[in-house]
Amino acid sequence: MTGAARPWDQPAPEPNSLGRPNAAGMDRDELELLMASLAEKAFRADHLFAGLYRHRWTDWSSFTALSKPLRTRLQDEVELRWPEIVESVVSDDGSTKHAFSMQDGSIVEGVHMPYEGRATLCLSSQVGCAMGCTFCATGKMGILRNLTAAEITGQVITMLNHHAHPIGAPVNLVFMGMGEPMHNLAHVMGAFRLLNDPEGVAIPPRRVTISTSGLVPGIQRLGTFKPRPRLALSLNGTTDEHRSRIMPVNRVWNLEALAEALTAFPLQKGERITLEYVLLKGVTDSLEDGRRLVAFARRFPSKINLIPFNPHEGVGFEPPTEAHIDELCQLLSGQGITVSVRRSRGQDIAGACGQLARKRSGAAD
Ligand code: SF4
Repeated sequence: MTGAARPWDQPAPEPNSLGRPNAAGMDRDELELLMASLAEKAFRADHLFAGLYRHRWTDWSSFTALSKPLRTRLQDEVELRWPEIVESVVSDDGSTKHAFSMQDGSIVEGVHMPYEGRATLCLSSQVGCAMGCTFCATGKMGILRNLTAAEITGQVITMLNHHAHPIGAPVNLVFMGMGEPMHNLAHVMGAFRLLNDPEGVAIPPRRVTISTSGLVPGIQRLGTFKPRPRLALSLNGTTDEHRSRIMPVNRVWNLEALAEALTAFPLQKGERITLEYVLLKGVTDSLEDGRRLVAFARRFPSKINLIPFNPHEGVGFEPPTEAHIDELCQLLSGQGITVSVRRSRGQDIAGACGQLARKRSGAAD
């Protein structure tokens, strides 16, 4: 996992590299530089910041606190272009999966999941993914590139606008879409800071979760940030033999290395690490797995999300029966573990991560 030639390390195209500068996704410093380049006072960047991220305006004509001549110059010389939704599929359960086209034509997915008065947005951090988990449609794509902080932020702004999310209403972000966020932590944290800013979208750190397949150096690095998002581990196996078979990352950082990294992770009072566990019938869902899961989860403050597999073509896995899911749930909760069953929302809309983007990209199963 070291070396200079990894494809995901290649710099993603800057959003402004294809023509005029694009203000969408710029942070405060970049907006100040933009204002300086137009010979404007730095404090105007505050208006831009609030307009872009608090009001989520998508047209310079909305920035009425700026003078008309400045608005005209912005209109002529600076783009305000977020990732474009090129396909949306609405599920019976109310969630919507969106395919976003980035400025270079790359397609990634995001999911909007409404709950009473709030929304959870599932975000992508990369175009494709290098991790190769065998149960995952994105894993089959391989890795194309990292997303920039602006492109990650753009998924949020575009989904909130598309769904007319009221300004100030709660939003949860989960990095559980395409990509391994720890392979792109600099840009993920750039988007986190932008979205966390109280003058912007103002999403509190506790409402943001990064899910990793188990990159120990990334876990250690995340623990050094203040503030930082919450941590989730996509566990999905309780023995090294089983986990390595479905998650190649386990051959580098095995369960013991993971448990040690999670035990050392600096948690705040009351904070817990989420263990996500995809239930694959006959592969990861035995009662013996359940007992080993209890032992793993007890090594640090944790809670468990059981995720019955969302079937999709070409992977050859199935979800367990409802009765068996109940049995596992009772086994875990009977041992004092906090457990919930997370139904993969949007099962009728190519809901598993990567399916819609692969379809848009014309990839075969
Ligand atoms: S499950 Fe996550 S880490 Fe694994 S291949 Fe899919 S996107 Fe990558």
